[in-house]
Amino acid sequence: MTVVLPSATIGILGGGQLGRMTAMAAAALGYRVHVFDPDADAPAAQVAARHTMAAYEDLDAVRTFARAVDVVTFEFENVPAGTAEACEGAAPVRPSPQVLHVAQHRLREKQTLQGFGLPVPGFRAVNSLEDLHGALAELGTPAILKTAASGYDGKGQQRIDSADGAAAAWEAIERQQAVMEAFVPFQQEISVISARSALGEVAFYAPFGNSHAHHILDVSVSPAAVPARVAEAACEVARTALTRLEVVGLLCVEMFVLDNGEVLINEIAPRPHNSGHLTLDAHHTSQFEQHVRAVCGLPLGSVQQHTPGAAMANLLGDLWDGGTPDWAAALRAHPNLHLHLYGKTEPRARRKMGHLTAAAETPDAAARLVQAARAALTAGARIPD
Ligand code: AMP
Repeated sequence: MTVVLPSATIGILGGGQLGRMTAMAAAALGYRVHVFDPDADAPAAQVAARHTMAAYEDLDAVRTFARAVDVVTFEFENVPAGTAEACEGAAPVRPSPQVLHVAQHRLREKQTLQGFGLPVPGFRAVNSLEDLHGALAELGTPAILKTAASGYDGKGQQRIDSADGAAAAWEAIERQQAVMEAFVPFQQEISVISARSALGEVAFYAPFGNSHAHHILDVSVSPAAVPARVAEAACEVARTALTRLEVVGLLCVEMFVLDNGEVLINEIAPRPHNSGHLTLDAHHTSQFEQHVRAVCGLPLGSVQQHTPGAAMANLLGDLWDGGTPDWAAALRAHPNLHLHLYGKTEPRARRKMGHLTAAAETPDAAARLVQAARAALTAGARIPD
């Protein structure tokens, strides 16, 4: 496996906030970053040395980009797998397009993980309303119908509470190929972010505890409030997925924890993950630096946390409803708070615009800090935009 040393150029397919924070970590290590994204003002392009502005389907532009870099990675799963494949002749693509192919399709993802013997919720493939009725008869209600492709943050998902709701749910997802899952009565949601380097070294952050609002991640804490045996089981699940998929880079495995301590995989993401943003300020090595080290074949960094507790709260576009949030008020809330904004100019509802992190003596205390700081953003008088 080729090792890519500092001063080389890392190509990133996708220019969102994950690419932006990866680019910043890469720059700190002395790499140059070349972003491929159709948007002229993409968050990652704002901090990168070079930007190719073209459509992902423009394979000539994709090949030219790949020839100009030393390694290619991606920052979101919805990059067409064909785009990643088109890079392969010119530069190593890490993680491989095969990993992308699995992670970007919920049915393939579940079948692959199940094939590795890993625990997933009961699921059925759904290609028609008839399939959906059959799946409901087998798995019962409540259930969740999810489109197989291009779903994230709860997009393309419908909860079904009784068989009577099947037709409406099928119409709501526009009759797309889908997966129906049994509803999991989870006690909590956790994620394990792991890394595997181009040389095969692996590292695991302790599980993060995640709470969602409207299907979008709201607050993450570290470490998750789970018994040691659950944390170990979750890391073992992550290890199997990471090594069986032969990921080079990061892999986030999102899991449900049941009352009896069992874990079930919800989904996987072969890239930095929102639940790992707290590692920027709380850990010896951030997930973004770890991703860069892994794809470049450098030794992995320590996954130790600086303080016993850490937390992150997302800042969505809705916070701008009454004008620009009061950044100073949030930072004044505590000196251990850090504000991260992604350079997005349009604060649309539910759009991820930034996040706050805090370190404290316990995860709960850190969560209270980030939530208080977020509340302070909109508590005072603001200048309407
Ligand atoms: P996803 O986009 O699949 O990650 O789903 C977003 C959120 O919806 C998850 O983090 C859960 O809170 C909830 N969810 C998804 N699938 C299920 C399920 N099978 N049972 C219960 N809740 C679910």
